[in-house]
Amino acid sequence: MSTWHEYVQRNGKVPEWPYPVDYGKVNEVDSDVLVIGGGVAGLQAAINAARAGARVAVLERGHAKRSGAGGAGVDHWHGAVTNPCSSVTPEMYTNACYDSMQGYTGAHVRYIITKEGWDTLQECERMGIQIRDVKDEFKGAPFRDEKTKLMFAYDYKNRHIIRVWGWNIKPKLYDEAKRLGVNIVNRVTPTALLTAGGNQGARVVGATAVSSRTGEFYVFKARATVVATGGAGRLFVFDPETTASGTMADMNSAGVGQAIGWEAGAEFVGMEGGGPGALIGFGYAPYSMGNASNTYHGTPIVDAEGKELPWVDVFGNELKSWEDRFYPQAGQEFQLGIGIGISRTNREFRLNDIPPDIVERIRRGEFKLPLYADFTRFSAAERRGTFGMMVGNEGKTRIPIYDTMTKAGFDPDKDLFQAPVMPVEGYFNACYWAGGPNTPPTVRSLGGGGFLTDWNLQTNLEGLYIGAGSTIYGGGCHGESHTTGRYAGRHAAAYARTATGPVIEQEQVDRERETAYHATRQGKGGNGWKEINAAIARIMRDYCGRYKNEQTLNLGLRLLDELKTTELAYAYASNPHELGRLLECKALISVGELAIKASLQRRASNSILDFHRLDYPAMDPPEWHKLLPIKQVNGKVSVRDLPLDFHLKPPFASTLEENYKRYSGTKL
Ligand SMILES: Cc1cc2nc3c(=O)[nH]c(=O)nc-3n(C[C@H](O)[C@H](O)[C@H](O)COP(=O)(O)OP(=O)(O)OC[C@H]3O[C@@H](n4cnc5c(N)ncnc54)[C@H](O)[C@@H]3O)c2cc1C
Repeated sequence: MSTWHEYVQRNGKVPEWPYPVDYGKVNEVDSDVLVIGGGVAGLQAAINAARAGARVAVLERGHAKRSGAGGAGVDHWHGAVTNPCSSVTPEMYTNACYDSMQGYTGAHVRYIITKEGWDTLQECERMGIQIRDVKDEFKGAPFRDEKTKLMFAYDYKNRHIIRVWGWNIKPKLYDEAKRLGVNIVNRVTPTALLTAGGNQGARVVGATAVSSRTGEFYVFKARATVVATGGAGRLFVFDPETTASGTMADMNSAGVGQAIGWEAGAEFVGMEGGGPGALIGFGYAPYSMGNASNTYHGTPIVDAEGKELPWVDVFGNELKSWEDRFYPQAGQEFQLGIGIGISRTNREFRLNDIPPDIVERIRRGEFKLPLYADFTRFSAAERRGTFGMMVGNEGKTRIPIYDTMTKAGFDPDKDLFQAPVMPVEGYFNACYWAGGPNTPPTVRSLGGGGFLTDWNLQTNLEGLYIGAGSTIYGGGCHGESHTTGRYAGRHAAAYARTATGPVIEQEQVDRERETAYHATRQGKGGNGWKEINAAIARIMRDYCGRYKNEQTLNLGLRLLDELKTTELAYAYASNPHELGRLLECKALISVGELAIKASLQRRASNSILDFHRLDYPAMDPPEWHKLLPIKQVNGKVSVRDLPLDFHLKPPFASTLEENYKRYSGTKL
């Protein structure tokens, strides 16, 4: 084993492509249920479809054992509100999310999550994931329930967010899927969903894909398909050499699931929504700097002279002790927690926090930079619970942060953990590593939008289901993704049981096979995938940034379209890996077009969607308080109006519970 530098110096050249390449060789994979994306949601979909008796295939871009945003681990699980210690009901939680977003989130998805989140987590426990303090390491701690040994995050009174030892969650799901006989095909990039007759808007009967190792072509035939490919991290920012596609996003999250759905005629909502790309590109490695947010919630922050920053409740009252930070204060029933796809939390459900005027107080010199996280001010249990149990299990912190710092001698019993030094506006919230004002305002990310689904988590396309975090309208975070994946897999299997066999339109397959290899046939002078991706991100930042009007949006569309016939058309792939990345670029253009076309349809500004139309500056006019589902019909955009509470309108029942009874397929 030698390093890259040693290899190149010894051999004088880069290594040969290590896999046999056979562009165009066709492999057929037949299943009842095809799952596209083997992340936590996708593997749950696969496991649950297999448990329901279906033959299942997973089409995965990376390697399903560790792939995806959840592949590196998890330390806290949201939405398990029916756990025996919780005082929050599914209705309370769903309504808190829905009201906070003033209706702009899929409440049916939230409700499914809360009804089944705890069951899903217990299934994970049976697969070998530790969800209780079985070794009694935290006996007597206020965040622990002595009877069940469950441990809680954020809100110690209402106890609905569960601390978990999730570092191995992905390998355990992977093992379970393999045990159930799921056929996992790793390292393939889908090019299209196959539809009945090859027609847009018709039943989905599988997908085509290309291997990013051998270049071979795949035809996946399936009665039902679940898409669970995650977000579109490389759409607005592309910085692969330093922070991958972004501080938080996974390089493989290129919006391909959304793109192939859009091209197949699936309906989307909220794709015009966005948010500052604070977590993208310009931040520090996730959770890598002293801070007091999320995994580190409640951690005492001190200034350069050891003076502690105050904390306040949601009404602005200063908290007396650090313990208070974990409890709702007078006038507040429960706290929701953050990172659950809710961009705005109503005050009644918000967390205690460092006060917003801290920026001004730092500027005035009341607190001196640098700031530090000071775990020594916690109790021993809280200290070990945070820098230990949680940092040791959270995605992307176990090795780079916990191991590295511990091996380097960091000791939370006595050392301070420095926060980044940055423009003072950056301290406006306690998630200091995310980039704050170092991130240019043009940097955006999609936010909250996704496939529109019904109470079965089925799309408007027969046979196409969605389970996932950011792929679905109404999705949340880690636990939520497991739960929707599990539900979608179950429903896809039920559909597959009664559906007729898939009939593949050979012409569609041939067309995909022809276009998929286009980049391998170009001259070597063409651009590479990185240039193309950077160009897409630039177009999206400039023309679909925070402020837009009809002209900028149309220019953005024109530029994306031109890219397809100019640089992308001549782009060259020298191996199957580059080919896969260029296929992703094609998909990114589709998702960009979808976001711009959705933006053109909303002719009003909207504060919840952080959507600013310069030509329609009036914010939140009531007549635009609605969803605008968008899809393609014969290549043309089709939009309709949909009330925000569509999930309680015919053909659905008028209450959450009634719908769940009717659609969940679970005997209650
Ligand atoms: C650092 C970090 C820490 C986090 N911590 C927490 C936490 O503590 N608690 C919490 O609730 N949430 C947390 N999250 C969020 C959580 O991990 C995600 O919400 C969750 O993983 C989403 O699940 P998913 O299955 O929808 O997507 P992912 O886990 O991203 O999986 C998507 C899968 O699809 C695959 N894929 C992508 N494109 C394609 C394609 N074209 N073809 C085939 N396959 C494809 C990917 O390789 C991947 O396997 C964290 C995220 C990060 C990045």
